[in-house]
Amino acid sequence: MSQKRVLITGAAGFLGSHLCDKFVSEGYFVIGMDNFITGDSKNIAHLTGNSNFRFIEHDVTNYINIEGDLDYILHFASPASPIDYLKIPIQTLKVGSLGTHNCLGLARSKGARMLIASTSEVYGDPLVHPQTEDYYGNVNTIGPRGVYDEAKRFQEAITMAYHRFHGLETRIVRIFNTYGPRMRLNDGRVIPAFMGQALRGEDLTVFGDGSQTRSFCYVSDQVDGIYKLLLSDYTNPINIGNPHEISIKDFAEEIIQLTGTDQKVIYQDLPIDDPMQRQPDITRAKDILGWEPKVGRAEGMKKTFEYFKSLTEEELYKSEHKDFTNYHK
Ligand code: NAD
Ligand code: UDP
Repeated sequence: MSQKRVLITGAAGFLGSHLCDKFVSEGYFVIGMDNFITGDSKNIAHLTGNSNFRFIEHDVTNYINIEGDLDYILHFASPASPIDYLKIPIQTLKVGSLGTHNCLGLARSKGARMLIASTSEVYGDPLVHPQTEDYYGNVNTIGPRGVYDEAKRFQEAITMAYHRFHGLETRIVRIFNTYGPRMRLNDGRVIPAFMGQALRGEDLTVFGDGSQTRSFCYVSDQVDGIYKLLLSDYTNPINIGNPHEISIKDFAEEIIQLTGTDQKVIYQDLPIDDPMQRQPDITRAKDILGWEPKVGRAEGMKKTFEYFKSLTEEELYKSEHKDFTNYHK
């Protein structure tokens, strides 16, 4: 049997780089693609020279040309942190719309199966709790988060259109907050934010009164769920996340315990449209994929903290947000 070939967009990002590792380890030939707008070449440096990995620097909002066959495309390119997509709103809309369209066209021309990285953000600030895949969501189209949420909703719609109209094989994963090594320290998401603050001896910034909830999934569980979904024959969206829910205030206390910092929690304004509750209903993933998370928060956070502790002083103190100046074109 010939070696399967997979294209992973967003390969230099947090999830994309872990997916590259997974597919290489499963014996695939992996083509990673990224324009580094929010990613980092360091995340895939260990794959350089691997005969089963090739990297192409490319912005997927432009026409994508790949030589040779492709069996699978995993489209993970997109800013993912609220601060990132507030700073690069147009690129966020483009990668979810034009980038997805280009990937779908490529998948069609190669006869490849396409999996898209959707998100719990399609549920917006949800009025149904926990969130099932049947819930249509409560999204503010014109709010600051709309650029991400609506790009992802459009991404799901165009993917289903290619499936229905062209008969393309498609898969949709709705990813709930996932964490682990290789998250960018300064991307603004709550886990790198708290861990960076603890390591620098700064107070932990809780937004709002901290009563909003999230449910955090460790990266190895997320990657396993995505892998199982890709190889399944299920075409409707599936939630992949860890249903263990916690308030952000309690989570900050957990991080204080874990890191042993003697800093305290300080409260800042809640960002506009910040969802008040988020917890995946994973019944569908359990029933259809036989998947459920295995790594508890204590274990996952410990591994993640080890990673952040291993960063250099320079990386730790280069904590200002990424400079996107060169990408505003
Ligand atoms: P990330 O920012 O670490 O990775 C995204 C990668 O995409 C980066 O390497 C970036 O440079 C690349 N990229 C962005 N625009 C591009 C473009 N136009 N062309 C080529 N490359 C481009 O984010 P992540 O957490 O790894 O998220 C990956 C995917 O998973 C995203 O689609 C995101 O929406 C989705 N997702 C992630 C989470 C999570 O908790 N991590 C939750 C829901 C959905
Ligand atoms: N948050 C916080 N302090 C921070 C960063 C984030 O209290 O320094 C909160 C944020 O307002 C949200 C939650 O933590 O309620 C998760 O934020 P994140 O950006 O990680 O992801 P989201 O789930 O909002 O996309």
